[in-house]
Amino acid sequence: MQAHDVEQKVDQLATAAMQRLQAADDAHSLEEWRVAYLGKKSELSQILRQLGQLPAEERPRVGDAVNRARQQLQAAYAARKQALAEAEQQRRFADEAVDVTLPGRRTPRGALHPLVRTMYEIEEIFLGMGFSIAEGPEVETDEYNFEKLNLPKDHPARDMQDTFYITDTLLLRTHTSPMQVRTMERMRPLAPVKVVVPGRVYRRDEDDATHSHAFNQVEGLVVDRGVRMSDLKGVLEQFARAMFGPDQAVRLRPSFFPFTEPSAEVDVRCIQCGGTGCRVCKETGWIEILGAGMVHPRVLDGAGYDSREFSGFAFGMGVERIAMLKYGIEDIRQFYQNDLRLLRQFARAW
Ligand SMILES: [Zn+2]
Repeated sequence: MQAHDVEQKVDQLATAAMQRLQAADDAHSLEEWRVAYLGKKSELSQILRQLGQLPAEERPRVGDAVNRARQQLQAAYAARKQALAEAEQQRRFADEAVDVTLPGRRTPRGALHPLVRTMYEIEEIFLGMGFSIAEGPEVETDEYNFEKLNLPKDHPARDMQDTFYITDTLLLRTHTSPMQVRTMERMRPLAPVKVVVPGRVYRRDEDDATHSHAFNQVEGLVVDRGVRMSDLKGVLEQFARAMFGPDQAVRLRPSFFPFTEPSAEVDVRCIQCGGTGCRVCKETGWIEILGAGMVHPRVLDGAGYDSREFSGFAFGMGVERIAMLKYGIEDIRQFYQNDLRLLRQFARAW
């Protein structure tokens, strides 16, 4: 091996390496280049290992040449590596650039449906009077929907409600009243029982401006020793004032329900005219809002409260009817049509 040849070879290697370095344009190809030209098995390393074969006086000069070439390639490698890293960073900056001057995207805000809102208002009023809230099944048995409420199979009052039957003994509840019995059975022998039951009920009504085959009710039930009709009237008066305004009054008219005795239809003074008479109240000055009465002794006894010791009252109101009166909505179907022009009015008011 001639010193001259070795120096020439080192020169050629360095030139080739410098050219190939420019082609390395990502981390992977740069690493391949480093292994090829600066690694332990690279030609430069092999040349260094073979220096011992040269005459002793020539070794320092050739060794210097090899080391200079190595240093040159190492410096070029470091520079290339940094340049690639900077390019990569610039690319990432460009990709992730955020235009802070763009206007933000607003998430539209939802609001409670007027029926839900009315339901919550009713619940709040009764919670304020010490009632608790219970919920019951919408698929109910004939036994709880009718029989335990003093409505045996041949009872004429069953004709009042045309029912969606699922089987001979299962049905979609026609009222929230089954929860009167379910609540008493769960609570006995504890007293007082003081509960409101909101929920959806189903009847085979033709849908029109005031009827829907599915609607919402709130049932109320109080059972204790010494509960009187005047307690019922007081609670309903309190409810009417909280719901419709402090000057409200209620009026009880005799009525009939199989599971209360005596029973009453309950009116409030017309919200539209204040009692002077108008189209809404059919010139009577009063509007019916719910049915109520003293819990029938047979229902009490059947649910495990001895009617000689306990008495109670119950009431049931239609949530849609209350909402229609309170907000002046004339057609019950508007609640179910999802017309944003109607719903937005409540979004603002809430
Ligand atoms: Zn009126």
